[in-house]
Amino acid sequence: MRLGYLIYPSLIVIATGALILGISQANAVVPTATDIRIGSHADKTRFVIDISDDIKFKIFTLSDPYRVVIDFPEIGWRLPGNVMARTTGVIDKFRYGLFRTGLSRVVLDVKKPVKIKAVFMLPPAEGKRYRLVLDLASTTRAQYLAALRPPTSNPRHLRNPGQIPEASSGILSPGRKPHKTAIEKRVIVIDPGHGGIDPGSTSGRIFEKHITLATARAIKTHLEANGNYKVRLTRKKDSFIRLRRRIAIARAHQAELFISLHADAIRNKRIRGLSVYTLSEKASDKEAAELAEKENKADLIAGMDLSTESKEVTNILIDLAQRETMNESARFAAELVKHIRKVTKTLTNVHRFAGFAVLKAPDVPSILIEMGFLSNRADEQALRSKKYRTNLARAIGSAVEEYFSHNQQVQR
Ligand code: ZN
Repeated sequence: MRLGYLIYPSLIVIATGALILGISQANAVVPTATDIRIGSHADKTRFVIDISDDIKFKIFTLSDPYRVVIDFPEIGWRLPGNVMARTTGVIDKFRYGLFRTGLSRVVLDVKKPVKIKAVFMLPPAEGKRYRLVLDLASTTRAQYLAALRPPTSNPRHLRNPGQIPEASSGILSPGRKPHKTAIEKRVIVIDPGHGGIDPGSTSGRIFEKHITLATARAIKTHLEANGNYKVRLTRKKDSFIRLRRRIAIARAHQAELFISLHADAIRNKRIRGLSVYTLSEKASDKEAAELAEKENKADLIAGMDLSTESKEVTNILIDLAQRETMNESARFAAELVKHIRKVTKTLTNVHRFAGFAVLKAPDVPSILIEMGFLSNRADEQALRSKKYRTNLARAIGSAVEEYFSHNQQVQR
């Protein structure tokens, strides 16, 4: 092991021998992770990733829940299919994927407070790849918390990227901007749920993040075909987007509608059907509340440090404009239910309410569609079919038409 590393309380920066300088160049070969192994002996849990190249990485920990995060430059993933089942020792679950352009991430959910006992990159031996080895051992909560990096020392690469500002209080009138001219198209933002490091739910055969993106693309194609709408997606590829940024994208584009797409998986495999959600501080039932809680964890799942988040968006909730937006959202949800019932099965209480973080834009009518359950065979098969997704897109298109046609006095 050749290395020189600097250890901050719990942020470990390692610069191994050769830096991959050409990594961001278009023609550079992307380093690839090819295997992950986890073993435990006594109190030590060892996590090993095989990587094609000697690359830089950073390791840090997050609390509540306890997580260990490993960041790499953007790498490819060619891991065996059963790799997610290999957890043992203090590692409960783990995820991997693109966090944002140029940054790939592995997040380990650990069962209890841990300390990083050792971390090193082994050079290839006997035809093997480079191996990043991470040894974890139990510690106390007090020591774990003491080792957390202070929020002020956030490395720049962990800050919210991009030019689009975060949601803030300010202009607060929902939907249908009256200043639009006849030529301007109405902007609709479609939000494919999850992505990158956050795969969402799974059927064992496909991830929610892929279903949501495929459906979003179908909706965009359908809505843009008649020339009245400009459809923006919050993500165009398999990348992670934090919840607040999804809202910020809708606001920055002055969207008149925001539609977030999801497909949950639950224990009862017999339950199937689509449901539509709008924002409410009071959930309509226990299932709705639990679902919102699950979806709101997306940022945690991706290994975000939420301790520095402002409460801005939450405070906006009490604003009157938010109420008006909530009414508009409910009106669109009602149109949607009417049209969507013609093409698919729905849950009995098809329109439900709950505190979904992604629906909290104060001035953009927003709904979340749970398109079906990946845990149900029939729903899963439907969602994997292009024809079915096109039918869904048509129904959503009809609902959008009707929603906007009911307010003729507003100029376009
Ligand atoms: Zn989801």
